[in-house]
Amino acid sequence: MTNIARIGQGYDLHRLESGRKLILAGVEIEFEQGLSGHSDADVVLHSVIDALLGAAGLGDIGELFPDTDPAYKDIASTDLLEQVRQKVEQFGYKPVNVDLTVIAEKPKLQPYKSVLRRKLAELLKIDFDAVSVKAKTNEGIGELGTGRAIACHAVVSLAEIIIT
Ligand code: MG
Repeated sequence: MTNIARIGQGYDLHRLESGRKLILAGVEIEFEQGLSGHSDADVVLHSVIDALLGAAGLGDIGELFPDTDPAYKDIASTDLLEQVRQKVEQFGYKPVNVDLTVIAEKPKLQPYKSVLRRKLAELLKIDFDAVSVKAKTNEGIGELGTGRAIACHAVVSLAEIIIT
């Protein structure tokens, strides 16, 4: 049995623009626009990173990977997530489960949910069943609803690593 020790939440939003690849949870999604940002702008992984850091009390993504630092220009967020996963592990904790709500008016993400879950499970080294991805629209309301941006909310739980 795993005793959940800590819980963290993360949120992120990036604008959509032409001429960029759309990367969500490290997966390239077919779409005519991508998310703008200093890194690959993977809004899903950024929210997961903040949730992990939040659960461990280790700060936030902007503190660890400043967007003013050229080292992180166009960096794959999968690399950032791995650094954070290791940081959390060194702190003595491992992820138990992650629950995500991705808000995108377009593209429709329902067909990608399993792919995203599989990728997140692989990146976090947890079971497929321990990853939940929920795809929502914003009902046509506001910046998200007009398809100008994609946002993601993440909650993760951590358990203490017991060395036996
Ligand atoms: Mg971000």
